[in-house]
Parts: sequence; structure tokens; C-alpha cells
Amino acid sequence: MQRKISRRAIVKGGLIAGAFIPAIGLMATTANAAGLPPLDPKDPTAVALGFVTDATKVNAAANATYKPTQKCSNCAQFQGKAGDATAGCNIFAGKSVPAGGWCKVWAQKPSA
Ligand code: SF4
Repeated sequence: MQRKISRRAIVKGGLIAGAFIPAIGLMATTANAAGLPPLDPKDPTAVALGFVTDATKVNAAANATYKPTQKCSNCAQFQGKAGDATAGCNIFAGKSVPAGGWCKVWAQKPSA
């Protein structure tokens, strides 16, 4: 006995699958953030943006916008939450940066 699949069932199934695929992608992104390799300070983009793993070692004379309170953990691009030692950065996709790091595109994280 053959079973007919209605066009309505196909459309309904597609809508359900379409709703779940972005959710699965979001979970994968969150899971991968913890295992990102650290950004190499010698990476050409990191060098161009003056990235350092320790913000206290920033050459303030060469970086006029730098303030001692600036570090990755309070930067708008830092993907971690308060207390995370390292996290992803929106500028350096696929790499993690230390909470105490810094680079020239630092921007104040909006207060919650
Ligand atoms: S953009 Fe922000 S979080 Fe990313 S490396 Fe620069 S200072 Fe750190």
C-alpha cells in the first residue's frame, strides 16, 4: 500500500526543520567558544591592531587612546561573561583572547 505525502505535510515539515537549524547552529557556536585556540600576538592582524595578552604592558606612548582601565574583559567585542579568563573576540574570529588583553579597537562594553 502506497502512502501519499501531501504538499501540506512537506511544507509543514520544512518549516519545523527551518526553525531548528538556526538553534542547532547557535548551540554549536556556544560550545565551540570554550575551545577556541588562543590568538597569537604575532598574527599579522593582531600585530596591526597592537594586540597584547597583558594590557598592563601596552606602550601608552605609542597608543594615545589607551587608558589603564581598558582590557578585553570590558571591551564590547569580548564574547565572554564576567569572570571568564578567556573568550572569543568579534574582531579575531575563531580565536580566543585573554580577559586581561588589549588591542587598538578596544571599545567600552555597554553596562548591563
Ligand atoms: S577587540 Fe576588544 S576583546 Fe578583542 S582583542 Fe581588542 S580589546 Fe580585546
